[in-house]
Amino acid sequence: MVISANPAQPDPIDALLSAHGLRRTATARLVLGWFLAHPDTSYTHAQLQAALQGGEPTGGSTLDRVTLYRLIDRLTQVSLLLCRVDANRVRRYQAMPESVKAMPHFECQTCHRDSPLTSALQGNAFDLEAAAQNALQALKALGYEGLSLDLAVRGVCADCASAAAAQAKTPA
Ligand SMILES: [Zn+2]
Repeated sequence: MVISANPAQPDPIDALLSAHGLRRTATARLVLGWFLAHPDTSYTHAQLQAALQGGEPTGGSTLDRVTLYRLIDRLTQVSLLLCRVDANRVRRYQAMPESVKAMPHFECQTCHRDSPLTSALQGNAFDLEAAAQNALQALKALGYEGLSLDLAVRGVCADCASAAAAQAKTPA
């Protein structure tokens, strides 16, 4: 696939893991590799586990469920995976699409949490995503390369804001 199109580059999966401060374990490579090889498919935890165990050999070892869940969480936290909640309120994960590297996210200046704004913005997040993709495609057509785009909203998150408001109300 596109992933190994340029043999001069270091292993892209290892590079991604390193760049996001993740350990390059066999499981991490396997899981991220799987998502990148199936960029248009979203998986629930259970589907992913079944796919990984039924698919590529895992060196004879069975994939530990807890390890897998933790890894998926970490990959999502660092925005390598995109998590969406489907109509049945089940979390589904997929490789972060190129365009969605521009996924709007929120950086709280108080608690320094960095969270995706997809659910907060709902439909608008997809409009932003589409706008970002259009912009990137336009630049690509002009010959620009190695494009990435980051949409960060900065401020104080709702949790911190309400905590501050509650504190203000409480007499010292
Ligand atoms: Zn906060």
